[in-house]
Amino acid sequence: MKILIVEDEVSLARAIKKILEDEGHFIDMVHDGKSALEYAEIFPYDLIILDVMLPKMDGTEVVKKIRADGLSTPVLMLTARAAVSDKVAGLNSGADDYMTKPFDTNELLARVNAMTRRTGNVIFKELTYEDIVLNLDSAELKCGKSSVQLSKKEFEVAKMLLTNPQMTVTKESLIVNVWGIESDATDNNVEAYISFLRKKLKYLNSRVVIKNVQKIGYHLEISKQ
Ligand code: CA
Repeated sequence: MKILIVEDEVSLARAIKKILEDEGHFIDMVHDGKSALEYAEIFPYDLIILDVMLPKMDGTEVVKKIRADGLSTPVLMLTARAAVSDKVAGLNSGADDYMTKPFDTNELLARVNAMTRRTGNVIFKELTYEDIVLNLDSAELKCGKSSVQLSKKEFEVAKMLLTNPQMTVTKESLIVNVWGIESDATDNNVEAYISFLRKKLKYLNSRVVIKNVQKIGYHLEISKQ
């Protein structure tokens, strides 16, 4: 499943990301309400985990706007406030379920599983695009009969590119999702790993190329030669 985590407490957001990635889900993370709305409207998520108290736009406002735009993506609201009136406000705004912080791993997984079952629970083991296949268990990248092992970071970068192959993945979201929001990683780190991946694609003789989108990021496409 593709899940968006919206939580301004970065350490909590990362903890949730780790738990859900270990279960085989694909995670995007944002840390304010405005970005949440932008991401939710661009990418087809199977679930949004949404904190209530957020900078720029609060969680209930985000759900209202998502629903007003006709998106039916299931929303699990998170809040530190346990008051019944908050729960009612959350559900009234269009959220599907509600969880009070702090919560334990099992409770989170139980709710995520219950909510994603509604949309059909398929855990992907591979991502494919044209002639390449990325194995999500072994981090092997294959093309025809050739295969090559990816390093941890190469794998994370490849996973992001392959999750939405025709969409441009920004350098910023690569840094946040692969290196972490508090890391010192810069565009140079991203460029280095993109160049490693390009070499591996070439070695595999794949027709897939990583295309630069000037000043923004990258997307995959088929070589025109
Ligand atoms: Ca918060």
